Amino acid sequence: MKKVIFCATLLFVAVLTQSFSKIPICITCNLNGEIHTDSPAIVPPGYYPFKLGNFTITVISDGTLLMPLEHLIVGTKPGEVEQALAGHHRASPTETSANCFLVNTGGQLILVDAGGGEIFKAGGLGHILDNLAAAGYRPEQINAVLLTHFHPDHTGGLLRNGKIAFPNADIYMHQADYNILFGASGEKDQSENAGVIQILGLYKAGGRIKTFNSQSVLFPGITAIPAPGHTPGHTCYMVVSAEKKMLIWGDIVHAADVQFADPNAAVVLDANTTQAIAERKIIFAEAAKEGYLIGAAHISFPGLGYVGLNGDQYEWIPVVYSTGNKVQLFK
Ligand SMILES: [Zn+2]
Repeated sequence: MKKVIFCATLLFVAVLTQSFSKIPICITCNLNGEIHTDSPAIVPPGYYPFKLGNFTITVISDGTLLMPLEHLIVGTKPGEVEQALAGHHRASPTETSANCFLVNTGGQLILVDAGGGEIFKAGGLGHILDNLAAAGYRPEQINAVLLTHFHPDHTGGLLRNGKIAFPNADIYMHQADYNILFGASGEKDQSENAGVIQILGLYKAGGRIKTFNSQSVLFPGITAIPAPGHTPGHTCYMVVSAEKKMLIWGDIVHAADVQFADPNAAVVLDANTTQAIAERKIIFAEAAKEGYLIGAAHISFPGLGYVGLNGDQYEWIPVVYSTGNKVQLFK
């Protein structure tokens, strides 16, 4: 009896020919009846470009993290998280995307969030610069990085090999988050923010950090909209071009399978749970009513979709995969 052969190419060829016995050698890996143990990790492409009006936006993946959602999500009924995950054919720990959004306005390149970078390399992140390169951009071309908040899975990618990763970029962040890191809010224990302080400190030393206090137009077509709760300075960014709108919402949702159905489900990482829940409800309601596109940091890559309202329950409606095809063959 033949050995079971774990090789996708060989399996594919065998299925095509309807014979396992006639195809002893895998055309890709030259595997000759041996168990395939050294196959490379499967890493799908990590960038997704699309048009929003006259802008080109590219979602850049920094990778994924395995999140133990049954411990991270709070304010739910017993078993609610497990049930919601099972209902979506998932389990905890749940593979959770870290998405960044590059807005090419035609005149400027503006990145929203920088991923976890080297800080989270061991946890599966740190791919932003490779995926940026794959999408055809170099870090020195980036004019600005807008931060949704200061947490390290959004700011770690600002560093590369101990140096600033985006040498020509200004960093934009809410004053309240800046104050937490750089002392003005009087935080006593800064040990858990030490890595982020070090990274953003490099940009601060170069005079590259710009802050805002309230809703502000930062660039033509890009408006910062504070949505505090997850952090005091947590901010969403509304991008508008030729009447097309997209809200890049940062960490409004960490567990799509749970939080659309139950916006009261919060994450332990929230600085102010009550405020974070209230903001989530406001943003869900407006996004469902207005129907604009959402770009989400932690919803499965590319994290693009719409908030739907089914009865009295919100739902996530992901965009379809698009190549921009305008040709209709079947009529
Ligand atoms: Zn995050």
